[in-house]
This record gives sequence, C-alpha cells and structure tokens, in this order.
Amino acid sequence: MQVLIVGGGGREHAIAWKCAQSSRVDRVFVAPGNAGTALEPKLENIDIPAGDIGALADFAARRDVALTIVGPEAPLVAGIVDRFNASGLACFGPTRAAARLEGSKAYTKEFLRRHRIPTARFATFTAQNFDPDFIRGERLPVVVKADGLAAGKGVMICETHEAAIETARRMLGGSFGAAGSTVVIEEFLHGEEVSFIVVVAGDQAVPLATSQDHKRRDDGDQGPNTGGMGAYSPAPLVTPELDARIRREVIEPTLRGLRLEGTPYTGFLYAGLMIAPDGTPNVLEFNCRLGDPETQPILMRLKSDLVALCEAALDGALDGVRLSWDPRAALGVVMAAGGYPESYRTGDAISGLDVAARLPGKVFHAGTQASGSQIVTAGGRVLCAVGLGDDVAAAQRQAYDLVRVIHWSSAQYRRDIGNRAIARSRAITREKE
Ligand code: AMP
Repeated sequence: MQVLIVGGGGREHAIAWKCAQSSRVDRVFVAPGNAGTALEPKLENIDIPAGDIGALADFAARRDVALTIVGPEAPLVAGIVDRFNASGLACFGPTRAAARLEGSKAYTKEFLRRHRIPTARFATFTAQNFDPDFIRGERLPVVVKADGLAAGKGVMICETHEAAIETARRMLGGSFGAAGSTVVIEEFLHGEEVSFIVVVAGDQAVPLATSQDHKRRDDGDQGPNTGGMGAYSPAPLVTPELDARIRREVIEPTLRGLRLEGTPYTGFLYAGLMIAPDGTPNVLEFNCRLGDPETQPILMRLKSDLVALCEAALDGALDGVRLSWDPRAALGVVMAAGGYPESYRTGDAISGLDVAARLPGKVFHAGTQASGSQIVTAGGRVLCAVGLGDDVAAAQRQAYDLVRVIHWSSAQYRRDIGNRAIARSRAITREKE
C-alpha cells in the first residue's frame, strides 16, 4: 500500500520513517518533506505544501494512496479531513469541527467548563467588551492568550497588570491577525507540565507512551518559549495513579463531550497538562495532532505498526488494541538555528550527518534542504537527535553523542534536556533504598 504524510518537520520525518517500517507499506509520500525524508528508504518527497488541501487530495486520489496521516494542525483546522472524506479518501485526523479544540482556545475553555474538566479559571474578551479592570483584579502573574493558531507564540505570561493589559490590547488590536480578535485571560497555574497523547476513535482511546518536552529555548528553562527544544519518553512523573486520573478526569469526559455535542473525534489528541501539587491534571491546551518534538522519542519506542493503528482508529476498532513499546527510554535534543525562535539564518551547510548516521540512535530532520551535494539549514528547528538507553540518563548520553558530531555555524541547542527526569528518577531510587 501507499501512504501519504502531510508536513515537512521532524514530527513528519518520524511518522513517515515509522510507517515505512510496516511490512504492508510499499511507499510513503511526504508532502513536502525535508532533506532527511528524501534520503530514507521507501520515502519520496512530493512538492506540495501542507496547506494546499486541494492538490493533496488530488494527489492522493491519482496515486492510489490508501492512508493519509496529517502532521501539522493548520490543515486539520482548515478541514483537510472533511475534504479527503468527501472524495472517499482515508485521512487520519479530526474533522474541522473537532479540530476546533486546538483552533480556538476560547471554544476549548468554554468546552472544558461545560464538561467540568479541570483547567485554569479564565475569561474571554473581544475588542468590544475588553475590560482592563478584570485583569487588574487578577492575581499575578496573569496569562494572556490569543484565541486562534499562533504557531506557539500566542501565550504571554505577564508579571504586571499593566503588561497584561498592554498585551491583551496589542492582540485585540491585530498584532496576531485574526488569531487575536478574541483573547483568553487565564489564572497562572503552578505545577509540572506533561504531554498526554492518545489515539482516538469516538469514545475509544489508546494512550501513547508518556512524554515531557522542554519549551524554553535556553538551559535551566530560561529564555523565550519555542515550539520545543527537546523531549523524552517515558515521563517518570506520570505514575499509574496519575495516568488513571488523566484518563478519568480529562480524556474520557472530553471524548464523551465531543460526541454529545455532535463533533466526535478521530485522530491523535494531545493534552498539554499542568499537574498541580495535589495531582489535579489541569488542561492547559489541546492539540489536534502529535507534538513536535515529543513524536520523535515516542515513535522511537513504538514497536507496534503505526499504519495498522491509524487504520484501526479509522474503522472505529480501537477497543482491545494494546500497543507494544520498547522498554528503554528515548530522548531527543533539538538543534536549532542561532536566533531561533526570533529571526534566524538559513542556508548554512550542515556537516557530520554522515558520521551521525553510523552512530546508534537516529537524527530526524526538520528545517533542512538539499543544496547541490550538501544539506543546508532551512528553518528554525533544524534537527532532532534521538538516543535510546536503559534509562533517561543513558538515552541522554546517546543523543548528545549524536549532537556533538553535527555542526553548522550558529547551531544552538540545550545541554540539559532530560536533567529534571534524571534527578526525579534518582530521588525515587533513593526513596526506595
Ligand atoms: P499553551 O499553548 O496554552 O499550552 O501555552 C503554552 C505554554 O505556556 C504552556 O506549555 C505553559 O508552559 C504556559 N502556560 C499556558 N497557560 C498557562 C497557565 N494558565 N499557567 C501557567 N503556565 C501556562
């Protein structure tokens, strides 16, 4: 069979690489892909942007694609699944209506409130009804969020009331385009963040392995928020008890609520959670797709057939599905272009990829592109080097062994990915002794 992966980042490289391992798959098209997907066995890049839904549907029909998996949120929120389904094409992801869970934070907060799912207290405003006195009455810091998709940049944590008012005014004034025409003002939550990702078919959900990512750019969780600078799986914070709470208090009521409201969900559902000191799993956000870079370490550990899993979900047959995981830990370190997430340079030649390819672990590409015989940088997040090991510390060593042999001028990466998990594991070991 032939499979199509929509997108061109590190997440899509990992999804395509994993699909190619299925014995039933002859070829995996990646639209548009990157320099890494171009080099993989069974993979073929297709020069169609992820946003050109009509051209993607035409391609899938013409080339007999049996399954399409959508990586990024934008085509899902724009309705790629509805368009494929209208042509009788199998496309794994939520419909446009169900993808609103990521497409509109105001909708999602109201949904969470309606279904009594734990989340931060909030209020929403438009330019017409914005009330600065509401913000002045909130405890600091205050979180201000643009309602719509803003490529991970639409969330500001403001330390003063005046900064929060100014941020909300700027968003409402158009600094985020239509995404900011509604703002959500939210209570700041304390705790530890985890990602909980499930494969969903209506009310049925199969959890993927747990993971945790690092959103801040610099060591010690400093610097600006990014799309993610590294991730590891499993997340030692998610004990079996917490796993059960997340399913009972977040996943199950969410899926039930979506069905009851006439927007049943199919696809990957990613819950970004802040675990409060008392263990309450507060929802920070939902994403209607896999996370990047969490996908890279998670799929390194998945032993089951990803294509069969997506097909089972599309058939509504997830009950009884058990996924098989490599018991080892996986850890991914993102290498980014200097200056990311603000302005950064592209076109720098990358060296050492051939050396890395002979080492254990795996380098997934994101913002890369072939230029003659060289591979050059072509985006903010350039690569994700993933190591495996008996514990997070061993996976971390393997990942950084890959990072150390890869070079380009102005490369930047965090040196502490996984350190918190390693400290936690050591503390647990000490407790047991
Ligand atoms: P979001 O896109 O809503 O997940 O927000 C991006 C990041 O901002 C999250 O991963 C958190 O680190 C942080 N954040 C968002 N909302 C809150 C909140 N209410 N309290 C504390 N941190 C938050």
